[in-house]
Amino acid sequence: MKNETKAIRIQTERTNEMEHSTPLFLTSSFCFDNAEDMRAAFADETDDNIYSRFSNPSVQEFIDKMVALEGAEAGYATASGMSAVFGSFMALLKQGDRLLSCNAVFGSTHTVIAKYLPKYGIEYGYLGANATEAEWEAAITPNTKMIYLETPTNPGLDVLDLEMIGRLAKKHQIILNVDNCFATPVNQRPIEFGADLVVHSATKWLDGQGRVLGGVVVGRKDLIHDIYLFCRSTGPALSPFNAWVLSKSLETLDVRMERHASNALFIAEQLENHAAIANLRYPFLASHPHASIAKKQMQNGGGIVCFELKGGLEAGRKFLDKLKMLSLTANLGDTRSIASHPASTTHAKLSEAERQAVNITPGLIRISVGLEHRDDILADILQALEGI
Ligand SMILES: *Cc1c(COP(=O)(O)O)cnc(C)c1O
Repeated sequence: MKNETKAIRIQTERTNEMEHSTPLFLTSSFCFDNAEDMRAAFADETDDNIYSRFSNPSVQEFIDKMVALEGAEAGYATASGMSAVFGSFMALLKQGDRLLSCNAVFGSTHTVIAKYLPKYGIEYGYLGANATEAEWEAAITPNTKMIYLETPTNPGLDVLDLEMIGRLAKKHQIILNVDNCFATPVNQRPIEFGADLVVHSATKWLDGQGRVLGGVVVGRKDLIHDIYLFCRSTGPALSPFNAWVLSKSLETLDVRMERHASNALFIAEQLENHAAIANLRYPFLASHPHASIAKKQMQNGGGIVCFELKGGLEAGRKFLDKLKMLSLTANLGDTRSIASHPASTTHAKLSEAERQAVNITPGLIRISVGLEHRDDILADILQALEGI
């Protein structure tokens, strides 16, 4: 079966009720017929469900689909994207290990790496998004245990070379862990380039309708087993209800992402030379500094467009205030188009120098392009750009 079909047809076994749509197993625990069956399950001699912090059929269905879509061996689903990121670090890194990453990572991921990992004696190093192969290799120390990256990055849309970094990770036997949130597996499959683990915030495009939080990590079976053991004891399990919502969402992921990307490319092309815009970024535009890497590893440019307003911080705030249809909200990857201004919101706590280091300029606007008609999205942006 092709992935589009798997995302629709993978389903928990039909119950005696003969339901067509997938059932929701909203239960905290599972029953046993007798003491011996219960003993065997607790002794890990069977894989019967015990308790929904460990496993649940609705959660497993979502995991099974993500494993298939990413071409992975196994997976574990979590309550949010951040618990997938954190769980993958804490299960696999120990005191004295070093995590190598890129300074352009999601804000909360940066907080985990730079503030919390050092508390547990785990070192970290950052490279810039334009670092060369030689620079990456030079940054690998003997205690470097994991390379963690995000591509395209949030919110700056830098694209990192998965093939190059995958090759280095293999050569030095380092775990490569990739946040594939922005591309989704229908657009980019990091495992094909040598990633050992792929993490997702399912909250974004995987849900795609702004309803639930969720996360998932998929990849090598041995690594996922360690993550599972860590998570089943520490408790960031995905709610069965959220898993059910997310599994239904995956049925439409492929068609949704195709339209998000074609709408985004249209918006990017129409705005690229606008008088109020200094610098527009979209991975599949020839003007993007990493366009050739994007074309090598992605099927399309994704659903996010970002640009710099010539008027800086004040213009950014004015632009948001003038929008009539686009939502001002902290999420992305929704059917509804969303505008955000990182310098005054998500990245307001960073210093000017820290913002500059990760390409967050005062007038940077990020648009998560939705599924409304492309003419309506463009019209709202154009009227908001007038006179700012
Ligand atoms: C939102 C996001 C996360 C965190 O996910 P949550 O579900 O909000 O915890 C991680 N990585 C990227 C790239 C994101 O956009």
